[in-house]
Amino acid sequence: MTAHFIHGLTASRAYPEPLSELTNDSLIQTFHGKNRLSTKVGIQKRAAGGHGLSWRRPCLDSRLLWNDGKKIFGRGHEKHPWRTHLERLIDQAGRAGIQISQDQCKQFAVYHELLEEHRKRANLTSITGLDRVRDELFARSLELAAALTPAERARYLGDGKRLIDVGTGAGFPGLPMAIVFPATHVTLLDGTRKKTDFLAVVVEALGLEHVEVVNGRAEELARNDAHRESYDIVTSRALAALPELAELTLPFCKVGGMSLALKGANVDEEAKSAASAAAQLGASTALLRPVALGPRPEPDTAVLWRKVSNTPTRFPRRTGIPHKRPLGVPNPSSVKKPVSDTDEGGA
Ligand code: SAH
Repeated sequence: MTAHFIHGLTASRAYPEPLSELTNDSLIQTFHGKNRLSTKVGIQKRAAGGHGLSWRRPCLDSRLLWNDGKKIFGRGHEKHPWRTHLERLIDQAGRAGIQISQDQCKQFAVYHELLEEHRKRANLTSITGLDRVRDELFARSLELAAALTPAERARYLGDGKRLIDVGTGAGFPGLPMAIVFPATHVTLLDGTRKKTDFLAVVVEALGLEHVEVVNGRAEELARNDAHRESYDIVTSRALAALPELAELTLPFCKVGGMSLALKGANVDEEAKSAASAAAQLGASTALLRPVALGPRPEPDTAVLWRKVSNTPTRFPRRTGIPHKRPLGVPNPSSVKKPVSDTDEGGA
């Protein structure tokens, strides 16, 4: 029998206080450690020209003991048959040609536990229960991979490729993608500190060394050379209406890369209203691909823009301007707002 502890950074003293002390515009929280037993958190501040690295010890009062797929909570020895619930995710993804291993399945189970634990405090999501989280958050996030052909998956999500999830919130769709595509370097970006603090906890607990969590605004980070036009694929969900979303995502895309946004059904009009913005930002005409993993009353839509030329340096405009005056939209109030289960949609 093999068993190991996963230490979560969930105690009140460790979260959110130590991370929120840091006030840099762009804070890179990188978690170090060769395995899940790591108890150190590396916080790397990226300031103009300078780097600081400090170490903090998280509290260890959240312990999950794994034993052959059964979770035993602390002293309570409560068993949790997560395997039964998550096997359906393996089936759903498998039918779309996306393989999920047993270890990745365990990572989804821990992610779910942490979501439930921090849900209210960090205003993460209104969706609760493993089955709903599986269908509406995990499977749905993987729809973006399902919307790609096998050749596109190899080209954009293969070894050493770079993905950024803009406005990731509690990690959707970027974190499920990071779990399933461990060879891809993934950056999770959000402007809300509580959310990036939560993501840092998850990344540490799951031992995802290829994932970087960044707290900051897309409008600012896209002007940083380390991020501007340096991603093969830029994902988003429930971030903004498409004209604004184009300006928040396309500046991160390399020429030859793509922006891939998950939307609900009936996005034709919204996509038309974003055609001018996409063209100004260097993208081709949007491709709309219906996609559904798991039970859905109607399929979602993956909106795909290919980056065909560099984004002019004047984009993105100042923080908040893409929202107030979306490119190419004469009357912004006529554009549908995104529907999110999570929150206000603002940082
Ligand atoms: N993608 C997640 C969260 C959607 S809510 C999901 O599908 O569940 C929108 C998120 O985008 C919020 O967490 C908000 O903080 C973040 N956000 C909005 N505008 C942003 C911007 N300009 N830069 C960075 N994050 C932003």
